[in-house]
Amino acid sequence: MAANGELDVSTLVQAAGGAPGQKLEAQTAKQWAWMRSDAAKAGVNLAPEPDDGIASCYRDLANQQYAYNKLGYPAAAMPGTSNHGLGTAIDIALTSSITYWLQANAKKYGFVFDVANEPWHAHRTATINPPASSTTGGNQMLVIIKGKANSWTGGLFFVDKNDHATLLTTNSKEYPANVPQLSTDEQITNFRKVVSGI
Ligand SMILES: [Zn+2]
Repeated sequence: MAANGELDVSTLVQAAGGAPGQKLEAQTAKQWAWMRSDAAKAGVNLAPEPDDGIASCYRDLANQQYAYNKLGYPAAAMPGTSNHGLGTAIDIALTSSITYWLQANAKKYGFVFDVANEPWHAHRTATINPPASSTTGGNQMLVIIKGKANSWTGGLFFVDKNDHATLLTTNSKEYPANVPQLSTDEQITNFRKVVSGI
């Protein structure tokens, strides 16, 4: 197990709904995408807080040190002790309705809010895999969205029979062969028009 704040970034997964580079360890990314997809069905749009110099998802040691220097303890954890350094925490952009939904539902997806006075800091403390019904059945469509300059802006999605999309992974090694690939701006726009939850 790599040390806190020193994870191998190639093992991290893009956070669903996050800006490029906002990454999480894989299990957390999976549970986050599942929670986010279910929230979308309830009309609640979950996204990581945009980074403002301090990373909202995985945070390496240098960035935690920056946060610590800027905010001090306890607003920022001691470098090497934040669960952002393990890729298991997400600072979520909140509105009152998002906070309400999270307080009622996040635990089902393995997330708790265990830092006092930080209702935005979701920490994955349980491993709960999405039920098979969320990734099988219905009209499955697996899609890879390829961004500009060969960067992956999307990933492998499962689209259920209700046109709700769930991000499964951005790890290209986990893409099955022969999945449809969307690469032009027009294709991506159309995909977003058709599906909800992304
Ligand atoms: Zn946090």
